[in-house]
Amino acid sequence: MKGSVGFVPTMGALHEGHINLVKQSKSSTDSCFVSIFINPRQFNNPEDLKLYPRTLDSDLKMLDKIGVDAVFIPETVEFYSETLQISLDLNPLDRVFEGKFRPGHFSGVVDVLHRFFSVLRPTDVFMGLKDLQQCLVVEKLIDHYFPTIVQHNCDTLREASGLAMSSRNTRLTEKGRLNASGIFAELKHIGHNLQGLSENIELAKAHLSKLGIETEYLSLITLPDMEILEKDVQAKRKALVFAGYLEGVRLIDNLVL
Ligand code: AMP
Repeated sequence: MKGSVGFVPTMGALHEGHINLVKQSKSSTDSCFVSIFINPRQFNNPEDLKLYPRTLDSDLKMLDKIGVDAVFIPETVEFYSETLQISLDLNPLDRVFEGKFRPGHFSGVVDVLHRFFSVLRPTDVFMGLKDLQQCLVVEKLIDHYFPTIVQHNCDTLREASGLAMSSRNTRLTEKGRLNASGIFAELKHIGHNLQGLSENIELAKAHLSKLGIETEYLSLITLPDMEILEKDVQAKRKALVFAGYLEGVRLIDNLVL
C-alpha cells in the first residue's frame, strides 16, 4: 500500500528476532519505524526491570546497518505525562498464563501500544509469535481502537540449538543457555506425542527440572481463547505454551500446532 508505515515496537537489547520483524516490515511497507522503550508499566517484577539488558548503542548500530526510517526512544516521564482512559476487555487473556503470573503486565502493554499507535499512526504493526499471548492481546487492542492497522504475527527466531532468541538470554550463563534449549526440545516432543498428553507434560517438567529449569506452566491450549486442553482435540487451533525459571531468569516459549 502506498504510504504504508510499518511499526516494530521493542524494548531494545536487539537480536535477530527483532531484526527479522524489521525485515518483514521493510519487505511489505513503505516506511519502517522502530521503538526502543523499556516500558516500566509492563514489568510486574521490579528486579526484572532493574536487570533488563540495556544496549542502546549497539541497538542503534544494528538498526543503522539494516536501515530504518525512524527510531523512537521516548523518555518515560514525558511519554506518560498524559493519563489514558482505555477500556478494553481482555478476558480471559488477562487472567490466564502470562496474565495470571504477571499481574498488570498486559494492561501495561496495552497502555504503551495505545500511546505508540496514536502518535505514530502506523498502517501495519509487526509482532513476534515468541510472545503468543501478547499477539492475542494486541489483536484485541487493534480490533477495538485501531481497526485499520494490519497486524503481522511473525515466526519465532531461534538459536541453532532451538532456544528462542530473547533479550533475557544474555542473563544466562553459557551452561544455562545450553540447558535452556531443552525447553523447545520438550515442546516439540510433546507436540509430536499428543496422545498421553498429561503424562508427557509431567515427564517434560521432570526433564526440565534436571536441567535446572523450574516450570511455571506448560499446557496445551486452544487458540485464540487459551483454554487448557487436558487431552488432544482435533479440528481446533492449538498451541503448547511454556514459562519457567532458569538461573533466576524467566523464559517463555510456545509451539503453535
Ligand atoms: P521485546 O523487545 O522483548 O519486547 O520484543 C519486541 C518484539 O520482538 C515483540 O513483538 C516480540 O514478540 C518480538 N520478539 C522477541 N523475541 C523474538 C524472537 N525470538 N523471534 C521473533 N520475534 C521476537
